Amino acid sequence: MLVDNYSRKFKYLRLSLTEKCNFKCSYCLPNGYKGCSAKYLDLNEITNLAFAFKELGIEKIRLTGGEPTLRPDLIKIIQTLKEVVGINHLALTTNGFRLKQDLEKLKCAGLDSLNVSLDSMQESKFKEICGTEKSRDIRYSIDHALRLGFKNVKLNCVLLRDLNDNEFFDFLEFAKSRPVSIRFIELMKTGDNKSYYERHYLPVTSFEQKLRESGWEQLASTSVSGPAKEFYHSNFAGRIGFISPYSKDFCTTCNRLRVSSVGGLRLCLFGQGDISLRDLLQSSDDRKRLKVMIATALKLKPQSHRLNEGLFGDMCSLSAIGG
Ligand code: SAM
Ligand code: SF4
Repeated sequence: MLVDNYSRKFKYLRLSLTEKCNFKCSYCLPNGYKGCSAKYLDLNEITNLAFAFKELGIEKIRLTGGEPTLRPDLIKIIQTLKEVVGINHLALTTNGFRLKQDLEKLKCAGLDSLNVSLDSMQESKFKEICGTEKSRDIRYSIDHALRLGFKNVKLNCVLLRDLNDNEFFDFLEFAKSRPVSIRFIELMKTGDNKSYYERHYLPVTSFEQKLRESGWEQLASTSVSGPAKEFYHSNFAGRIGFISPYSKDFCTTCNRLRVSSVGGLRLCLFGQGDISLRDLLQSSDDRKRLKVMIATALKLKPQSHRLNEGLFGDMCSLSAIGG
């Protein structure tokens, strides 16, 4: 079991498969992905990494990016993590662009759950925020995922002042008859979005207040819920959650580790630098050394980020590590 110096236990890994993305979300990659020469972890490296983390007690792996569905070998990666490595819970975070064509293959390959980003219910607003007109297709894919029997479908919406902050009731309506969990995420400041952040950051507390006033109740948090606060209402099939990295308790419940698409272990989303695991990912013979390296590195995990002091680490955009 991976435990840090502050008694936080880690059973959840977020693994970025690529930095590439086909969207131009205004808060993340407003000018689109510009390309880099990095060689992303291949299937062999990913398998060795996953075996080591599994033996250290990791039960859930979330595949993220960039846009993970752009990896041509995504299905093979999922099958291997599920069938060969034996990961209990395999999740994917995606912008939803390719879901219409990929959903059934993903399900057959063994994917357990899905987080789909959807920042607006309105097509023109969605285009303004994400640079493409795909919100209708994404909503269709969410419904299709539910029909296919995905148990844990989450919808991520970054709350943005003067852009989507008037859509509270539209999102609520979406959760009325669908068993989805809608997560409103506070905009995070990164190296590339400082002035955007000043214009569009909005604390989620305003939505939370409206929700409580409409009779929603907070669910007790569990060891797997991590830093999200979740609410339910007996008249709604879905749930509403909030992720507020700037709140004072955010780090106390941190239950996740992150590995970049080139094998860098990132101990805190808002920290400085990664610890490269790549040399030890080439052969299964190095698994013991790899596990020692990960467990030792975890002792360096800081107790808290320092966002409130204006220190947001060295990350230019969340596309580099996957949120
Ligand atoms: N491309 C996939 C997607 O958009 O779902 C996966 C990667 S994306 C970086 C993961 C999540 O991070 C998305 O839900 C996205 O909206 C969110 N995100 C990206 N930049 C963010 C920021 N600056 N603040 C808050 N959330 C952000
Ligand atoms: Fe791409 Fe996801 Fe970033 Fe949007 S949030 S630009 S979809 S990586």
